[in-house]
Amino acid sequence: MAKRDYYEILGVNRNASEAEIKKAYRRLAVKYHPDKNPDDRNAEEKFKEISEAYAVLSDAQKRANYDQFGHAGVEGMGGFSSGGFSGSPFEDIFSDIFGDIFGGGHSRRGARGRRGDDLRYNLTISFEEAAFGLETKVQIPRHQNCDACAGSGARAGTAPRTCPTCRGAGQVRYQQGFFSLTRPCPDCEGEGRVIDDPCPQCRGTGRVRGKKTISLKIPAGVETGNRLKLTGEGEPGIGGGPPGDLYVVITVEEHPLFQREGNDVICELPISFPQAALGHEFEVPTLDGKVKLKVPPGTQTGKVFKLPGKGIPVLQGYGRGDQLVVVRVETPTRLTPRQRELLEEFAREGGEDIHPLGKSFFDKVKELFG
Ligand SMILES: [Zn+2]
Ligand SMILES: [Zn+2]
Repeated sequence: MAKRDYYEILGVNRNASEAEIKKAYRRLAVKYHPDKNPDDRNAEEKFKEISEAYAVLSDAQKRANYDQFGHAGVEGMGGFSSGGFSGSPFEDIFSDIFGDIFGGGHSRRGARGRRGDDLRYNLTISFEEAAFGLETKVQIPRHQNCDACAGSGARAGTAPRTCPTCRGAGQVRYQQGFFSLTRPCPDCEGEGRVIDDPCPQCRGTGRVRGKKTISLKIPAGVETGNRLKLTGEGEPGIGGGPPGDLYVVITVEEHPLFQREGNDVICELPISFPQAALGHEFEVPTLDGKVKLKVPPGTQTGKVFKLPGKGIPVLQGYGRGDQLVVVRVETPTRLTPRQRELLEEFAREGGEDIHPLGKSFFDKVKELFG
């Protein structure tokens, strides 16, 4: 099915301002938000569609790409696939837009039970692992459903019963002045059920502490701060509620030789003054091993040599960045008497021609200051 135009989805024209786009999104998001339309697949699809449109049109760079190339211009920018990699602004939009409408967060209260907590796991990986991706297994400390009572919290052979105070709703109404308000039921603490004979294994909570081994597939090109969302791998829900999500937050270790800038890898190459003056062939390290680099005679410090395609693979995209080798010419510091003699002779022999940039610099000084 062909994708609909993002502007059409939000019902704004192509030169709408940022504020107009935000306003349009807000109006539609409130209308189609899953909390307001439980079990309505249509509304859910609609909500996803408008969220995707907003994620693109609210980001100046992505909007420009979209205006120029259409959907192809923003594909593979990540974040919209459920359970996929979300370095996207999707979650920021949530807290930004919904924080105030729905009273903070979006932990939904289902009809039954309470949603489990989200978990965060910090994963530190090497520079190379970030560049090329990695598959690994991690052990996440989290609660599990108790085996003895299958998570019900009631002693094996018994079952929890519906709370008579709130009739299973988990909330009770009370009157305050003219207002009718609700609060969590005091007798079941909002769970909607009471346990007469608690399971001894889990003391009635239905959960025990444990560890879960989870396989992770980190895509090539990730950076520090990126996070991987694993839907439903957080803490289990309580009283039949859905589980929370697990967020794996990436930290990339520093590399002794490489630095990252976008998808490019920067590497500094210290060379000696004679090598810079006479030219030299070096073996420089890259992510793919060593490669030969010819530095021509007369190379100045700060000169950058580009090794195309030797950088970081584009996250969820195609191609790789470049490696940039930055030359730094080192001035010799400890000279032997013989070396000093040779350098002095070298200076006399060359006259002013041995540093052409300096010559034109001092010519300009003379011109300006006399
Ligand atoms: Zn109750
Ligand atoms: Zn139990």
